[in-house]
This record gives sequence, structure tokens and C-alpha cells, in this order.
Amino acid sequence: MATCKLCHKTSPTISGALALCRDCIVERPDEARPYIESAHRRAREPYGLPVAPPRKGILCRRCGNACAIPEGERGFCGMVENREGRLRLLSTVRRGYLSWYYDSLPTNCVASWVCPAGSGAGYPQYSLKDGPEFGYRNLAVFYHSCTYDCLFCQNSHFRDLYLKDGASAKNLAEAVDDRTACVCYFGGDPASQVEHSLQTSRLALREAKRQGRILRICWETNGSMSPRIARQMMDITLQSGGCIKFDLKSADENLHIALTGVSNSQTWENLSILAEYIPKRPIPPPLVASSLLVPGYVDETEVAEIARRLADLNPEIPYSLLGFHPCHHMSDLPTTSRTHAQRCYRAALGAGLSRVNLANLHLLRGEDYG
Ligand code: SF4
Ligand code: SF4
Repeated sequence: MATCKLCHKTSPTISGALALCRDCIVERPDEARPYIESAHRRAREPYGLPVAPPRKGILCRRCGNACAIPEGERGFCGMVENREGRLRLLSTVRRGYLSWYYDSLPTNCVASWVCPAGSGAGYPQYSLKDGPEFGYRNLAVFYHSCTYDCLFCQNSHFRDLYLKDGASAKNLAEAVDDRTACVCYFGGDPASQVEHSLQTSRLALREAKRQGRILRICWETNGSMSPRIARQMMDITLQSGGCIKFDLKSADENLHIALTGVSNSQTWENLSILAEYIPKRPIPPPLVASSLLVPGYVDETEVAEIARRLADLNPEIPYSLLGFHPCHHMSDLPTTSRTHAQRCYRAALGAGLSRVNLANLHLLRGEDYG
């Protein structure tokens, strides 16, 4: 239970970290800014990461944050530094910062309900079975960095692994064996170490092709990478039968800045660029969207607007709505209620999307927020 510093409303769905309700974030952005900045300062300073994308230095164009990095400092993702007047990538194809594991198929992946591994879509060209691929596995690659700073981060432990562990693209590609049917890059966010994931994909696909095996490449991302990189990811996705899963935090930009610390304009630009590729390979779907239903913030108004924009791009884009689990700096919020999820589900369908899915159903609470 927290109180909004601007309108003084008290509710269990107001985050104590932000101390702002959704309406004040959206409608009073100038007054909300200092509270938003201090929430992200508390989240990032313990890890030595910049509180906001820096604005005085050499410009990095790898993602939409467009950090201008001062001498001796790092960009928002912590993976690019200005050393002696030149930008240097900390993650390279020789050493990415990541951990990985195998996940039995079908996984609880946000796209599993429409992808070759979970549904057999694209069989026999892209799926090993005309149905779920039992007996095979996914190589899950968890990058230890991110281009966003979500206060509700569901994988927040990546921050404790910052600049720890690692594997070359070559070693990671060698982990793909004859039982591995797909690779999924997530994290953190693969956008922050995307060169490593692209090289791993190329090496693994070359070997799979040599052996005549199916191997799908998928990314689960906030979609903030540069359009040039987004197109490279889509080329690999299309040829392999994989998909790019865009995790859309919000439609409203002010709300997005409050929740993640940065703008969502690059993500929406990339979505509109990549949606043009869908007719090249409509089955299995190359583009999938998802949103986390954060109580008090990502409500049916927000979901309806996200769904409307997706439907404008292509009404066939599959959209998954995910139950929220309280954690990181939003651990004081409740889990998503069933009525919240159902309102959002109806809103997404009503906005014109034909394929909407409710995931993480086990997390949903029976009662509505008091
Ligand atoms: S990749 Fe993005 S977040 Fe990282 S330094 Fe470059 S512009 Fe900033
Ligand atoms: S990684 Fe791709 S192919 Fe594998 S389960 Fe997820 S969406 Fe399906």
C-alpha cells in the first residue's frame, strides 16, 4: 500500500518505489520526473550503472537509448565504454557475459502456443513433429545486461551477474547438439550483447545445415536495438523458422519512462519495420508480442492501445498477456488478478488482434485489488 506523491491517492496498486499512480505519470510528466529519476537512481547506483542514458560524449548508435558517453564512462547498458576517446564493446564474440542451460520442449516460452516447438507450426520444414516437440530441447541463453531498467524486472538477478561468467560465440554454438531444436536469447536483454548472439546463431546454423537438422533461432527482447541490427536478427529468424518476441512494457511513452527508465520509441519503430517481413513467412509467425500485466500500471487501457497499434501493423501478430509476479523494486505490488487479466484479454481482442493468449495463469489471484 503506497501513496501517490502528486494526487495523494493511496492504493495497494501504487508502487512504493515510484510513489506515483499511473494517471499522474501519464498526465503530469513534468511533476512526476523527479520521483521517477530517484526510483531509477536507487535501482541502478548499487550496480555502478548510469542512472540515465548519458548525454555528453561519444554517441553510441547500438540501441534507441542513443547514449553520448563521456570519457572513462559506460553507457546505460553497461556494455559500451568510452576509453581514450573511442567506444569499446565489453561484450565481444570472443567473450559474451551470459549463462545458459537446456530447457525441455515444449517450454513455457511466451511464443510456445504458436511456435513450431509448442504447436508443430511449420511442420515439416521448421518443426520436428506435427505437434509439440517432446523429447527435444531449447538452448536458453541468459545475457547478463540490459538496455532497459524495468523496476518490475522478472529476471532481476542478471544485475548480480554483471560482467561475470562468459562464453565465446564459438563455445556457445558448440552447446547446440542433435537434441537441440531451438536457441532462445533472453536475459537481461540480448539487445545489449546482440553481436555475440548474431555470431553464435551464424555458427550454430552453419553446423545444423551441414548436418541437415532443424535449428530455430529466437530472441526474446525489449526491441530497443538499432533498426540495422533488428533487420539482421529478422533475416536469421526467417531462414531458421524462429521468431522475435517483443516484450512491450507499455504504449504510453511517459509510463514507459517511469517503468523502464527510457523511451519506447525505438521499440515501436522496429516493430513497424519488422512487421513488413511477416508476409515472407507467415507460418510459423516470425514476430510475437507480449506484455506483463503490472497491477495499477499496465491496465486494459494500456493493453488496448498496445493491441491497437499491433493490429494496425498486422492483426495476425500473436499477443501474450503475462501474469505479474511481485519482485525487484515493485515487490510491494500484488500479483495480477483474474479480473485484471480478463479485462486486458477482452481489450486486446476488441482492439482488433485475432490471436491473444493469457499466460502464467498459475500466478493470477482470484480476487480483485482492494
Ligand atoms: S547499446 Fe544502447 S544503452 Fe548501451 S551504450 Fe549503446 S546506446 Fe547506450
Ligand atoms: S525458443 Fe522459439 S521455437 Fe523454441 S519454444 Fe521458444 S518460440 Fe518456440
